[in-house]
Amino acid sequence: MCSAQDPAPDAKIIDLLSKKADNGIAHVSLEYFPPRTEQGVKNLHARMERMKTNTTALYTDMTWGAGGSTAELSLDLALHAHRTGHVSNLHLTCTNMEKDGDPVKAVREALQAAYDGGIRNIVALRGDPPEGSDEWTAAEGGFACALDLVRYIRKEFGDSFGISVAGYPEGHPNRISQLTDEEAANMSDSEKGRCCTHDGITYVCKDDDYKKEMDYLKEKVDAGGDFIITQMFFDAEVFKTFVKDCREWGINCPVVPGLMCINAYPGFKKMTKFCKTRVPKDLGEKMDAMKDDPDAVKKFGVTFGSEICRSLLDSGVEILHFYTLNLEKVVYGITDDLGITSGLVEKSDEKDAKDMVAVGSAWARVGDKVKGSAGEGVVKEMRKDGTAVIEVDGKDVEMAKGSYEKVFS
Ligand SMILES: Cc1cc2nc3c(=O)[nH]c(=O)nc-3n(C[C@H](O)[C@H](O)[C@H](O)COP(=O)(O)OP(=O)(O)OC[C@H]3O[C@@H](n4cnc5c(N)ncnc54)[C@H](O)[C@@H]3O)c2cc1C
Repeated sequence: MCSAQDPAPDAKIIDLLSKKADNGIAHVSLEYFPPRTEQGVKNLHARMERMKTNTTALYTDMTWGAGGSTAELSLDLALHAHRTGHVSNLHLTCTNMEKDGDPVKAVREALQAAYDGGIRNIVALRGDPPEGSDEWTAAEGGFACALDLVRYIRKEFGDSFGISVAGYPEGHPNRISQLTDEEAANMSDSEKGRCCTHDGITYVCKDDDYKKEMDYLKEKVDAGGDFIITQMFFDAEVFKTFVKDCREWGINCPVVPGLMCINAYPGFKKMTKFCKTRVPKDLGEKMDAMKDDPDAVKKFGVTFGSEICRSLLDSGVEILHFYTLNLEKVVYGITDDLGITSGLVEKSDEKDAKDMVAVGSAWARVGDKVKGSAGEGVVKEMRKDGTAVIEVDGKDVEMAKGSYEKVFS
């Protein structure tokens, strides 16, 4: 029940998107994740307030921690955003949402609490696999994919919520395959535009798989998705082709580009490898050359971010959605460069950066550095029960769940 002092329920973002930005250039939207510590949450409240005021952000996304790990905190932060004047866009995933033997109870409760608190916008997602698994599996009788969640929201809550869904300009990582040398030499032109190389291996979402992705995306939109927010990309042409393909597929809703801010070298390398993101050769080389110079990486993050945004704006994009990583400097650098804001980068304050670590990032996955009873090493394999196979000094050692922890570099 809302009290007299509570603000009115949020507008639906789809209705706001049709209006031109006051700055005459583009709308900005900002995405945050729940931090691990109480201090981090306090700092995030302050940063969200500053960034909303400084950039006049159209709306504010709060992620749902991997595996439902931050359910309560995500909801709290999204409600806090609503109460403090943001239009709140709450992410919701289907992973680990069973409660009291009911496979969808936690989803229903989260939606009801969001609605009661005035939130009117949801990003409907499947979610990544929970800790200890590399593969996503549905709970018995639960949702199998984001499409199921979109259908559920529309069935149970009608038009109470605006819904956005995820789109993958390079294909979802589950449908991105490793190519043999022969396949890599014989890619189609569209595959060449989407492919990526990590550690010398070429990956691509093959044309047949890409078509399946587009068919499925159309289903998500037809089932009730109002607009699409994309996975990060570092090649503007990939986004432009994706929008063109959406239109060819009869997907006519707004497509909002998701822009990952380049803040630090290790995070960039890890995320692009995990998501099998296309990294243009020039970008990869520049990042490698700056890997030991964090300040240079941040500066470059602004230059690169501004370039890609300019290219998107030239192609008719009217909103820029920043994955802020709970930081402000690079976002401000870009919005200043584009003329959306002015003089913000000099005022930016990231002294609290060490508190801005995500809950889910405490989990170790393949490729992460961990330390435990048997020493420090890199995770090679993760078993379903959380046991990790870790390479320590050239030897594979098994460490049980709870006996190792991730090392942050
Ligand atoms: C904008 C954005 C925001 C995100 N926010 C979060 C977040 O807050 N928390 C979090 O944990 N993760 C988040 N993620 C990551 C996301 O949860 C993962 O990428 C996840 O693996 C897939 O989620 P999805 O909603 O895209 O899944 P889905 O839409 O279900 O698709 C997943 C894959 O399965 C295939 N598929 C599923 N069902 C079918 C079907 N019936 N027929 C054919 N193909 C099917 C799809 O084609 C696709 O390849 C976000 C991703 C994006 C792009």
